[in-house]
Amino acid sequence: MSSFFSQKYASLTPYTPGEQPQERKYLKLNTNESPFPPSPLAQRFARQAAGDLQLYSDPECRALVKTATEVFGVGQDEILFTNGSDEILNFAFMAFCDKDHPAVFPDITYGFYKVFAELNGVPYTEISLQDDFSINVADYCGVNKTVFIANPNAPTGIALTLAEVEKIVASNPENVVVIDEAYVDFGAESAVSLIHKYNNLLVTQTCSKSRSLAGARLGFGIACKELIADLNTVKYSTNPYNVNRMTAAAGIGAFADVDYFAENCKTIADVREKSAEELKKIGFTMTDSSANFLFAKHEKIGGKALYEQLKEKGVLIRHFETDRLRDYNRITVGSAEQMAELIATIKTVLEENV
Ligand code: PMP
Repeated sequence: MSSFFSQKYASLTPYTPGEQPQERKYLKLNTNESPFPPSPLAQRFARQAAGDLQLYSDPECRALVKTATEVFGVGQDEILFTNGSDEILNFAFMAFCDKDHPAVFPDITYGFYKVFAELNGVPYTEISLQDDFSINVADYCGVNKTVFIANPNAPTGIALTLAEVEKIVASNPENVVVIDEAYVDFGAESAVSLIHKYNNLLVTQTCSKSRSLAGARLGFGIACKELIADLNTVKYSTNPYNVNRMTAAAGIGAFADVDYFAENCKTIADVREKSAEELKKIGFTMTDSSANFLFAKHEKIGGKALYEQLKEKGVLIRHFETDRLRDYNRITVGSAEQMAELIATIKTVLEENV
């Protein structure tokens, strides 16, 4: 740390992203990317936009907003695009949290919530997940804090029902409830339909997973127009051109190509269920995932040992070395071929160990 670093950030522990190794080609099942390339339409639009990169992007992303509003059935002033959904989550901490509106989220969830709270000097409470890693809905009802819930949750993949989400939103009318739907398209119920009923609900989603655009960085929030206006105040006070031209163009293609999106989501959900069955047959237990990953532990080999030995053999999964997570690993659901390779490699590791 330099002597110039602001005191207010001196004790900050930054978020640790999943490994993105460049030195060797791995079977990469560690950061929940899509195994499928972006839609051909998204690729074509991005290539076309490359020729106009001398010009700033449209800060309002009007063409992208128009395409997305048709998909979600919301108004143009009820959606805001950002540089990944990480950015809109940060904006939500900036806009809707302070010492009178502290944040609350589960103790096991997306690691960035805690970092954003600390970055923005927001007091926060972490509520323990239950023994089976599920969220106890009652813990978040009338909690009098700004609520952040990933639905499905990460790294567990467990989803709340829409009725459960509505209960949390309805019971906190004085606070914003942020539902982070990064993985919703793989099998959970979206709360977007509730934004016209509740003025305290912000739903965030991303094009990184189900729309195969992790490298483009495109996320968004959907809420009533007053909340979106607040988030725009924060956006225009930090980076008005937060979505670049090529990304906005790729986003238009990704939203327009509804069949490609639907087919990929269905494939991932099918492969998830088949892979879960295969893994159970060879001694794994896991949570009931509605996401594009499995959260699994083996009866005979520890989480870290499995992660390390798979890595040696060229397969990357995600390990979290914390108390309640260390027996488990989070495994991204890839294509059927990738999952067959994963399971074959796991079998080799098991033979070498047991
Ligand atoms: N929310 C959750 C629960 C996530 O796991 C992630 C991805 N790591 C994000 C949000 C952010 O994704 P992105 O910034 O790529 O949209």
